[in-house]
Amino acid sequence: MDNPTLEELKERLLYLKKEIISRIKENSEKINGIQIKGDEGDFSNAVYSREIIYDLIEKDRKHLKEIEESLYDIEQGTYGQCKRCGHEIETERMKAKPTAKYCIKCRNIVETSG
Ligand SMILES: [Zn+2]
Repeated sequence: MDNPTLEELKERLLYLKKEIISRIKENSEKINGIQIKGDEGDFSNAVYSREIIYDLIEKDRKHLKEIEESLYDIEQGTYGQCKRCGHEIETERMKAKPTAKYCIKCRNIVETSG
């Protein structure tokens, strides 16, 4: 991967990281703000809303972890290398998904083998 591309992807990862952290914070505050009281209807609505937000937070945390791993790889100089075969991942793929860990070929193998 050439340097300008690496820099560009690093910028994007840092930006995403900031965005996700503030969204997690926002959603956590939202959960704390949901009052679980009132009649039964209100109660199940509140529980339902909390569950939805919890799911969002979980997804964001998972994504955040991927971003942090990618940033770590950038520091280590191994960013953009397939974790399975060690070959360089297609630049177009990295641009489409900056947290990609596998080349297209290996991703298919990893995904089908679970
Ligand atoms: Zn590979």
